[in-house]
Amino acid sequence: MSNPYKTRAGGATVTVFVPYDCRNNCPFCVNKQEYRDCSGFSVEKIIESIHVMDEITPRCDFVFTGGEPFANLGDLQRMLDAIPTSHNVYINTTFPVQPGCDAEEMIAFTERNKDKISCINISRHLQKYVEESPDDVISRIATPTRINCVLYRHYPTDKLKDFVERFRKFGIPIQFRYDYTETTPDNLYEEDHDRILQDLRSQFTYMGLDGCRMRNGFHFLYKDLHMTYHKTLPYSTIVETDENGVTYDILYDILIKQNGELHSDWTGVKLDVEKYRNVTFEPYDLHVINGVIDF
Ligand code: SF4
Repeated sequence: MSNPYKTRAGGATVTVFVPYDCRNNCPFCVNKQEYRDCSGFSVEKIIESIHVMDEITPRCDFVFTGGEPFANLGDLQRMLDAIPTSHNVYINTTFPVQPGCDAEEMIAFTERNKDKISCINISRHLQKYVEESPDDVISRIATPTRINCVLYRHYPTDKLKDFVERFRKFGIPIQFRYDYTETTPDNLYEEDHDRILQDLRSQFTYMGLDGCRMRNGFHFLYKDLHMTYHKTLPYSTIVETDENGVTYDILYDILIKQNGELHSDWTGVKLDVEKYRNVTFEPYDLHVINGVIDF
């Protein structure tokens, strides 16, 4: 049974898996396996799919992820150039230490593209899983930046404040993340047994919560730094029947895979492009649930 699609006003976020692997092996990584076999990876096909998504939803958000988007600046430039400025563009990266492309070259890239990139999200964790560029390099990135930090399993609680101070001195906000393979509809909003939430509440000032069916953010303040604790479900389609008895597949993320294939979920489901051309839009259900999130 194939349900019609629904998505939020503006369109589902389009996540682009770049065709370049990273040089790391983070224990919580769910993308690594996607890079074992690189046959069929194609920047041209990815660009074709970017054009298709731009045509259907000219104001949707694009997110580049990997692998490592900064592994090939020439191809990243081509993909960025394929996206009109009507879209917000985000890049998830480690801002890698890599042979053949030094930090100054990457900084210059961010300078050249600062009008095209809304935010660069840099992975840094309490435990070091990757060779990290120095923090003062990160502080010179020309676009807005954010630190993404997965609080994985037995993370060292006593290092949280030092970690926050490390980036506070550059004014870079932090998004802490739950290992999303562990998120379920039952624990998405569960607070009492959420160890991370309790740790953050005990060390920082809780300000408020926003969220939707799919994901949420608990907002914290430490001195002058805004931090979020983000949880999201490990899939991106919610099946729901509306008041008229029509059942929809509600799409939150669409993926462009390394070979250009379009998927409607992280779970391997292909997007029916013609069906998406007739998608029904609903207002975005992300809303403030309590407190304040804008501070
Ligand atoms: S850097 Fe990112 S893509 Fe690479 S192993 Fe770590 S989590 Fe996975």
